[in-house]
Amino acid sequence: MHGTMMKKPLIISSLIEHAARYHGGTEVVSVETDGRVTHTTWREVEANARRLASALEKLGVGKGDRCATIAWNNRRHLEIYFGVSGGGMICHTINPRLHPEQLIYIANHAEDKVLFLDRTFLPAAAKLREHLKTVEHVVLMGPADDEAAALVPGLLFYDDLLASGDADYCWPEIDEDMPSSLCYTSGTTGNPKGVQYTHRTTVIHSIAGNQPDGLAVSARDVVLPVVPMFHVNAWGVPYIAAGVGAKLVLPGPGLDGASLVRLIDGEKVTLALGVPTIWLGLLAALEESGSKAESLKRTVVGGSALPPSMIPEFRDKYGVDLIHAWGMTETSPLGTINHLLQKHEALSADARAKIRLGQGRPPYGVELRIVDEEGKVLPEDGKTQGDLQIRGHWIVESYFKAGKTALTEDGWFDTGDVATLDADGYMVIRDRSKDIIKSGGEWISTVELENIAMAHPGVAMAAVIAAKHKKWDERPVLLVVRAEGDAVSEADLLAYYDGKIASWQVPDKVIFVNSLPLGGTGKVLKNKLREEYGDVLLTEADSGS
Ligand code: AMP
Repeated sequence: MHGTMMKKPLIISSLIEHAARYHGGTEVVSVETDGRVTHTTWREVEANARRLASALEKLGVGKGDRCATIAWNNRRHLEIYFGVSGGGMICHTINPRLHPEQLIYIANHAEDKVLFLDRTFLPAAAKLREHLKTVEHVVLMGPADDEAAALVPGLLFYDDLLASGDADYCWPEIDEDMPSSLCYTSGTTGNPKGVQYTHRTTVIHSIAGNQPDGLAVSARDVVLPVVPMFHVNAWGVPYIAAGVGAKLVLPGPGLDGASLVRLIDGEKVTLALGVPTIWLGLLAALEESGSKAESLKRTVVGGSALPPSMIPEFRDKYGVDLIHAWGMTETSPLGTINHLLQKHEALSADARAKIRLGQGRPPYGVELRIVDEEGKVLPEDGKTQGDLQIRGHWIVESYFKAGKTALTEDGWFDTGDVATLDADGYMVIRDRSKDIIKSGGEWISTVELENIAMAHPGVAMAAVIAAKHKKWDERPVLLVVRAEGDAVSEADLLAYYDGKIASWQVPDKVIFVNSLPLGGTGKVLKNKLREEYGDVLLTEADSGS
């Protein structure tokens, strides 16, 4: 007899099964869409997830079918994560802040069969219903509601659906390479692209990303993912929390600082995760309320660059360790996370603080390199800048339905970021090769804003850049060369965006210029513009926040 080992598939249901079996009594706290706080347990979340998988099967939803969500971070959304993927279907999280046209494009491209909606998004979704060609069932994430039923013909109710599910349903043993979830990213040009994670990539990401020098979530933690569940699976936190049996606190729609302070103090949160804008709000609310956030030990920040003052502020005022991480939709998302090495312990506090400002280093499972324009690998000396490329166990290979690889010839994914790497693998993002704007953790496409401006008859040339912003990190500023003899005003141009894009994507400011700097191939030199106008919103008393 050969000496062999068991082979169990790395599937998402194994995470929730573990949580129910070994951490069944551990709490999952959820702020519901109506503001009420509910307390449930991992045992109940798993039982409901099984009922949901069974109910979907009875509805005729088959393995591999896409079930979309437009929802806040709450208990039902968590049950959908595990019920849909655990049952062999694909959980497609949609960003509710998308412009309706993009949302329609994404749902049709994904061929979503079921759409789960939070009450908040029902009126808007009702208006789009007729355009969602493949959606057979719309499910309101709540109990039966007559008012809602009147808005969407055939509307189903989540709580009724659960009741129709089988409590004895057993998780199917599916192939670990089957897709489990789908998330779209938006590029600077063209339509959003779908990244389809598999069971295997999700489980490996949960284990490898959660080492002591990774997210380091344990059964003793109370974890608050402020990062939305529609943004790269809340950075994988729901899976990680289930796998280690941490208490999970889902914040629902209230992401303002005051609501977060109440949750952190009320539920004794030890670890919170989110984008820098969220932490700016939290710091202001802590100051105002006088709370010391006693329970909070760590916060993880990522999604856009970290304001340098944030680490000392958290540390000195509240004793909280702020950990910087980098990733993207294509990387599940964890690419790097910033913890120090043993040799750094001998350094001065200032030198250590400087290292921790960077984006950190890769955990086991991913590798990074930087290359020049010809693809030649550049030195990892902490000084040389290059295009950042990544490969590993949980990195995209090809986009959903793209029909072609997204990788370089030698198998790396080009991130679109420009970075330095040092000999220990510490990475620092220097710029983006793409010029997209990241406002409060959400993308705004400069190309889209420029195209709209260019369509105005008073505009000869237009360029949009990311200007630094105190609250939102970055906001769009539109630079315009007027058409000859035309007197188009700032107000005219801003009004021209009405109804064409979401209101939060409208530029904060219009600046009229005589010409735009052009490069060799006739492209506007955005880096020059950023150098000149990148601080324009910081120097103004009212920066539109
Ligand atoms: P997304 O796919 O929406 O998560 O966006 C990924 C992009 O966000 C990356 O390619 C980076 O440009 C940016 N990003 C993410 N984390 C960081 C960070 N810690 N610092 C700077 N930029 C970041």
